[in-house]
Amino acid sequence: MRLKEKVALITGAARGIGLQIAKRFLEHGATVILTDKVSLPFEISELGDNAYFMQLDVTQDTHWKQTLDWVSKQFSGLDVLVNNAGITGFEEFPEAHDPENFSIEAWEHVHATNLLGVALGCKYAIGAMKTRVSGSIVNISSRSGLVGIPAAAAYASSKAAIRNHTKSVALYCAEKGYPIRCNSVHPGAIFTPMWAQMLPTDPEELDVAKAAIAADVPLKVMGEPDDVAYACIYLASDESKYVTGIELNIDGGLLAGTSARPQN
Ligand code: NAP
Repeated sequence: MRLKEKVALITGAARGIGLQIAKRFLEHGATVILTDKVSLPFEISELGDNAYFMQLDVTQDTHWKQTLDWVSKQFSGLDVLVNNAGITGFEEFPEAHDPENFSIEAWEHVHATNLLGVALGCKYAIGAMKTRVSGSIVNISSRSGLVGIPAAAAYASSKAAIRNHTKSVALYCAEKGYPIRCNSVHPGAIFTPMWAQMLPTDPEELDVAKAAIAADVPLKVMGEPDDVAYACIYLASDESKYVTGIELNIDGGLLAGTSARPQN
């Protein structure tokens, strides 16, 4: 029960990493407000009495305001925000996303969701957390926020900006004397519906595609949503009370470096 009595809000929680974070937070005693752009593909009651759903499109200032007003009235404030919602942009804009050929529409759409969405979340969470005993904001960035990704330049740029904004929020809250910490998490290749959309649907072909991705990871396997969820439990809980402004990589060793060595 590492999150007992915490009130936590998670964005993009209908599936993938966000849903798994929600499930683990509930197991650890938190009250969890799952939010997503449209709806959940299941009944919220399936997750128990401490789970709530609010429709929240992270790009919409009014949605944030209404949701945080409701949370503040219902629970007298917020203890944890996980800014998880994020997109690659390939679903809505299948054309090239490289630095030479990207479209302004795709660039702006990706940044509106991934960067403005996180910035708005931080803005409203600060208001709802500053009178609590402690608050924790966890921003889900990406390995792509720390290295260049030529075929997904907007995604990489937005994720890099999340890393930087996290540090601004951490220092701002510390300077103001607010009891709020803010950290970023940088997943590598975690198998979720986001990946499933980009990989073959045939099970055998999917296994081959996943094995090819895993071959590039030092630990030789793709990550699971739980690998990120467990890191979020730590950052959300008071166990990390002296941790703010950090970046936590969950990537099977990808960012530890490349080998560039003779093959014997
Ligand atoms: P996912 O399976 O695609 O789930 C993302 C969720 O966010 C979906 O439910 C989606 O809803 C929702 N969403 C999209 N736009 C939204 C908006 N404007 N407002 C609210 N919700 C919105 O993705 P995932 O793999 O779990 O990724 C979760 C986070 O981890 C993302 O920020 C992603 O960039 C990051 N990440 C993932 C990986 C990975 O390997 N999976 C690696 C690094 C970082 P709709 O379906 O309705 O759009």
